[in-house]
Amino acid sequence: MSHYNTRLITARRSYTMKDVRALFGINRDTWQRWLAEGLSVVEKDANPLLAMGSDLIDFLKKKKTKGKKKLGEGDFWCIRCRGVVKALEGTTKIVKTGKKVGRDNLDQIIRTAECELCGTTMRTYLSSAKQDYCVPNTNKQMHQ
Ligand SMILES: [Zn+2]
Repeated sequence: MSHYNTRLITARRSYTMKDVRALFGINRDTWQRWLAEGLSVVEKDANPLLAMGSDLIDFLKKKKTKGKKKLGEGDFWCIRCRGVVKALEGTTKIVKTGKKVGRDNLDQIIRTAECELCGTTMRTYLSSAKQDYCVPNTNKQMHQ
C-alpha cells in the first residue's frame, strides 16, 4: 500500500483530481476509489469535483491508520479469503509453542481458528506480552 505525504496538502485550499494527481501521481481510478471510500467533496455535482485540503488530509490519515489496525478479538487474516474474517465459533485455540521469542524471551503463543467463510485453518503468532489481542476489543472505532 502506498503512503501519501499529507504535508504536501494545504488544508485551506481545494483540490481537483488533477491537482491531487500532480501531488501524488494517482490516476483516475484511485481518485474514484477515494470518492467511493468516503472522501468528501465540496459540491457533489461540481465539475470538476473539488475536495478541500483538510478533508483530503483527514481522509488519507484515516486510510493510513486503517491499514495498521490491529486485529480485534475473533478477527483473523484469512489467506484464502484475502481479508479480515471472523473465526468460526468454538474453533479458536490458543497454544503455546514452547519457543521463546523477542528481546524479553516471551513464550510464543499461536492462536488458531477456522475461517467462518471458507473453513481454512488460520494462525496468528502472539507473544505472551500481547495477550491483550485475545481480550475483547472495546475501542474499535471505524469512521465511515
Ligand atoms: Zn477464509
